[in-house]
Amino acid sequence: MGLEKFKDRNVGIQQYKVVEHEAFPKSNAQKFARVMKRMVKGELFVGLWVTLRTMYQALFQDDMHTVKYPFEKLPISPRYRAIHEMLRLLESGHYRCIGCGLCEKICISDCIKIDTKYDENQRKEVTEYTINFGRCIFCGYCAEVCPELAIVHGGRYETSSQQRASFSIFEDMLTPIDALSSQKEYPGFGAVSPNADDNIKKTPLAY
Ligand code: SF4
Ligand code: SF4
Repeated sequence: MGLEKFKDRNVGIQQYKVVEHEAFPKSNAQKFARVMKRMVKGELFVGLWVTLRTMYQALFQDDMHTVKYPFEKLPISPRYRAIHEMLRLLESGHYRCIGCGLCEKICISDCIKIDTKYDENQRKEVTEYTINFGRCIFCGYCAEVCPELAIVHGGRYETSSQQRASFSIFEDMLTPIDALSSQKEYPGFGAVSPNADDNIKKTPLAY
């Protein structure tokens, strides 16, 4: 291909659409007229109609499309991994955590700190349990590994606080004793899966 032909490839004048330029408005009246001409089009009234229709539905037909957060909140999935909750035994009200330390070991952010001691009955007692929510990445490993369903992920997803220490203390995460009757077996993240029994394998005798 010659150079001239190469330069002229696929760019014939017939492929262009020539845009007609309006004369530039000179007076303010002409500028205003141009603005109005560009602004007031049929689409504007379509948009207004949609807005007014939605407003009418919300006000008079109880068909609201928004929620008044934070007074109203949308339900979140039970599998959502929000701020942790520590559960109690429903029978005795004692916290379920047995201080095994599995959650502390598996935490990949190293943000769980737990301390235990033996009480007068030589039973393990949790003396300190904190989660540093500045480090937690809400991976859910701690809830997955807990053998007692003691630590689970609740639905409290607002994690802002004025104090770093907030939310991190065991007592803050523990179900209040006076709200024990409202604590249900947890259906959310960290709960036993519906087919948990099927997944249990017998330990081999030779093990
Ligand atoms: S959710 Fe993950 S990062 Fe947060 S405390 Fe549990 S294991 Fe650690
Ligand atoms: S894994 Fe469960 S029982 Fe064990 S220390 Fe953590 S919260 Fe307590």
